[in-house]
Amino acid sequence: MTRRRWIAEHWDEATATLTGTQAEHLARVLRAQPGMEADVVAGGFVFHAEIAAVSPEEVRFNLLAELEADPALPITLVISIFKFDHMEWGIEKATELGVTTIAPVIARRTEKHLAQAAAKRVERWRRIVHEAAKQSRRSDVPLILEPQPLAERVKAAGDDGMRIVLAEQERGVTLRSVLAEAMSASSNEMPKLELAFGPEGGWAPEEEALFDANGWRAASLGPRILRAETAAIAALAVVGSFLE
Ligand code: SAH
Repeated sequence: MTRRRWIAEHWDEATATLTGTQAEHLARVLRAQPGMEADVVAGGFVFHAEIAAVSPEEVRFNLLAELEADPALPITLVISIFKFDHMEWGIEKATELGVTTIAPVIARRTEKHLAQAAAKRVERWRRIVHEAAKQSRRSDVPLILEPQPLAERVKAAGDDGMRIVLAEQERGVTLRSVLAEAMSASSNEMPKLELAFGPEGGWAPEEEALFDANGWRAASLGPRILRAETAAIAALAVVGSFLE
């Protein structure tokens, strides 16, 4: 029986603690008792742990042994803010698919009211990825950055790794071919990746020029036009197929 997995809010080298709704759920609903075993994620590592003390406010575990953590994909997803329900669904799928960081950006065709409301949605997005990380038994929770203007992200992205803009107008170069090139150029190691996706309205011409001017590679996911959340899943699946 696979042990339940919990993501601790607080930890030190020997113990980890759940608080808030997780503690309450464990104590009240699951009737947790000292001695019960579980997998506990603390600080990006997974531990075989056992409950030391239980109360509805706090459940403390003793960390018994570190377990093999699963490698997240070294990917930052730059997603242009779009309809929140679709976007939140996409964020959950990207978490299941192993993304490490999500950078929400405001693109030229991001609807104004969504851009204004985005900063207040970040806490909700962080809860979504926390739940999805637990459900998909990840040993880490993706980082969600504060929303920023697209241009800031395009210019700021670090020079280590490869930066790819998924361009619906691109026909010649496929994502697969760009990744194959990256892998062969770095002795079969996948470099850190930054993948950028546009809003429902797509990239504006000046944005495509900005990507190009800042060294981003444009890549296609095929001849059909995908919703941004579909494009993110398809792209992560292509990357994953090189790694797993
Ligand atoms: N409104 C645009 C489509 C935007 S889709 C149009 O009808 O042309 C939203 C984003 O998903 C795009 O900006 C791009 O980043 C990504 N995307 C969708 N289809 C794609 C494809 N076939 N290849 C690469 N990226 C794609």
